[in-house]
Amino acid sequence: MSLPPLRRSLLPRIALLASLVAGAVTAAHADEGPIIGVLIASGSLDRRLEVGPGGMVIEYPGGSEQVVAGSYLLRLDGTHARIADWRLPRTTPFRFRGLRSAVGVTTADGGDIRSYDGWIEVPAPGAEGDWEVINRLPLERYLLGVLPGETPTSLFDPEALKAQAVASRTYALFQVLARPGSRVHLRSDTRSQVFLGSGLVDEAARAAIEATRGQVLTSDGRIFEAFFHSTCGGATRPVEACFGGSPLDALTGVTCEGCGHSSRATWEARVSMETLGEVLAPICRRHGIELGAVRTIEPIDPSLGGHCAYVRVVHERGAFELESESFRRALLARKVRCLSTSFVVTRSGELMKFVGRGWGHGVGLCQYGADGYARKGYGYRAILEYFYQRSRIEALW
Ligand SMILES: [Zn+2]
Repeated sequence: MSLPPLRRSLLPRIALLASLVAGAVTAAHADEGPIIGVLIASGSLDRRLEVGPGGMVIEYPGGSEQVVAGSYLLRLDGTHARIADWRLPRTTPFRFRGLRSAVGVTTADGGDIRSYDGWIEVPAPGAEGDWEVINRLPLERYLLGVLPGETPTSLFDPEALKAQAVASRTYALFQVLARPGSRVHLRSDTRSQVFLGSGLVDEAARAAIEATRGQVLTSDGRIFEAFFHSTCGGATRPVEACFGGSPLDALTGVTCEGCGHSSRATWEARVSMETLGEVLAPICRRHGIELGAVRTIEPIDPSLGGHCAYVRVVHERGAFELESESFRRALLARKVRCLSTSFVVTRSGELMKFVGRGWGHGVGLCQYGADGYARKGYGYRAILEYFYQRSRIEALW
């Protein structure tokens, strides 16, 4: 279930890119971009499949099955893959797709149905491996399920949605080009981009994707990882301050006066000293630090907009520094809503209070900022060229 590592240094310059993309689109319509692989589920699972009019075809080495419209159970377990009464041993790969309409698949919690165009592939996991369920579809159609997952499409200005479409297309293409020959390029959650299935009908999203078809961002002639986040709270962050690595012209921090209308423009979170100790204990164990009772947490080197790169933890046996983004994620994992790395911390008895600005890692496009600037009359090109400094918009298909 793991994605292959990124090979950033091998990303081609734009001149090579056009031919690479052209090579990758041979299996798709030329204006729909390369076929990509999105991991939509993994591990042993039971999901309901909804097969629409026209039925579904299942293909496997040496054969195929037709399934009529209806509701079926998809079960992937220790020995077999099963769809209704049909089954294959787990050593045999297979794939299925709707013949006239997308196939619906329930989410992990058995709630929503998400519908998927294109093939859904299930490679043979082998005796020890995890099952992987992979949706393969053209990049442009993938975006139909991303925009509604990443933005409130009914609330955002159309120009902000176009900016998001170009950012999401660029981000996805970067992942595809960084994993040549791989089956899986993206996950379907916030570890990549939220993907709700391309069968979703959202006219605002469709219009933004259509209006920017094939357009991607480049920096110094290269596709880059066009990060984005909900709300910066006043300024975005340089990429190296958040994720390490080298600085990139397109991902320097800029001030933002567009996201004041976000409900996450400011926030507060409280955590008990006991929970804080539990959050820090595993981190300390990994680094061989003996943690005493925590006294204070101090943001270190707040940059533009107040985002700190590190926090200093002062405890009764000493002090140490932690990367602020890892600290924030550790708090989030314990349901402490520390929404960004722009915060001040105060202590009151057994409670630590975080008062902060913005939501997300703060790198690249501020989504609510894009919406704010769009409402002031800026077009998507101006918005993108501001948040991704010195970048260019190029049409690849
Ligand atoms: Zn902002």
